[in-house]
Amino acid sequence: MADDTSRWGFETRAIHAGQRPDPQTGSVIVPIYATSTFAQDGVGGLRSGYEYSRSANPTRTALEEALASLEGGRHALAFSSGMAAADVALRAMTRPGDHVILGGDAYGGTFRLLDKVLAHWGVEYTTVDLADVDTARAAVQANTKVIWCETPTNPLLGIADIAALAQVATVAGARLVVDNTFATPYLQSPLGLGADVVLHSTTKYLGGHSDVVGGALITSDPDLHEQFGFLRNAVGSVPGPFDAYLTLRGAKTLGLRMERHSDNAERIVEALLGHRKVTKVYYPGLADHPGHEVAAKQMRRFGGMVSFSVAGGEAAALEVAARTQLFILGESLGGVESLIEHPGRMTHASTTGSPLQVPDDVLRLSVGIEDATDLVGDLLQALG
Ligand SMILES: *Cc1c(COP(=O)(O)O)cnc(C)c1O
Repeated sequence: MADDTSRWGFETRAIHAGQRPDPQTGSVIVPIYATSTFAQDGVGGLRSGYEYSRSANPTRTALEEALASLEGGRHALAFSSGMAAADVALRAMTRPGDHVILGGDAYGGTFRLLDKVLAHWGVEYTTVDLADVDTARAAVQANTKVIWCETPTNPLLGIADIAALAQVATVAGARLVVDNTFATPYLQSPLGLGADVVLHSTTKYLGGHSDVVGGALITSDPDLHEQFGFLRNAVGSVPGPFDAYLTLRGAKTLGLRMERHSDNAERIVEALLGHRKVTKVYYPGLADHPGHEVAAKQMRRFGGMVSFSVAGGEAAALEVAARTQLFILGESLGGVESLIEHPGRMTHASTTGSPLQVPDDVLRLSVGIEDATDLVGDLLQALG
């Protein structure tokens, strides 16, 4: 790692970690090194350690140093998507006959990877409600190698106690992976709470502008980092330099954006609570949320994701989603613009008929950073 950035505050790290002015030109912004290969001074004579861009590229290195610093980890690897990062993490940490514990409402793509891909290679899994630590502990088997946790969860914003799960993992001799996509390193630091690995879909808040797909794995364990790096180079699931640049550019404002996402989410929660057409609001910042105390302990604020149930069931919920004007109907989350979606029909359609099925009256909001009054007004007119 080029700099010891641990003495800096979060926003300083977001802007400077891994991002010193270019020594040759003084370019303040890390250049987009759009090159596949690097000239060598004689066979094996690498000028600055770079050889071929699948293995390493300077724009990507800058992003990785920034991500490691933001998560308080020693190492980071950037990937072409969040799923590419999940694939490398799971394959590096499991062998045929091994067992993975997965949160019951884990990201659908992660569930699909275990259920439809890794299962064919002999990796077993159990899904459990990780909000209940005793249930998680009871699911541990002799062959459990990984506990895979998301907190807050999608779309019902359930909360898992990272420090408690880290203890379960340690006793089990397993690794705890935390998918920190929803919370971001600004709001939550899983490595500091005992997690072994943090995963990100940088597509979401880290990139923050809905213009790039990417992923990352951050760890302080040098052996895990080496195994992840070996597998990523072997399979080649790397982001291009332009994607790395966009993600790095977005990450510079993560702290500012997360404050505003959280402010706006709080305003919206306030407006939804007590509305005659809203039967339930899911937000970990609410005192009566079952995970509120744990969330308050391990998160700086409660973030920009809000879900709620609409009176009148699915038809009424779909009508609200069709009537918003500022909230764009769409999948994904974490961008500066506000999005609305119906998980049952959209992001979580594949869970229909399974125990993971999302109630059909639920709408999920990714609250953006627009003017809060405009956002509240849009929702109120859509609710009618
Ligand atoms: C989007 C998402 C992923 C997958 O990331 P991609 O970049 O879409 O591959 C994984 N976990 C969570 C929580 C996500 O929201």
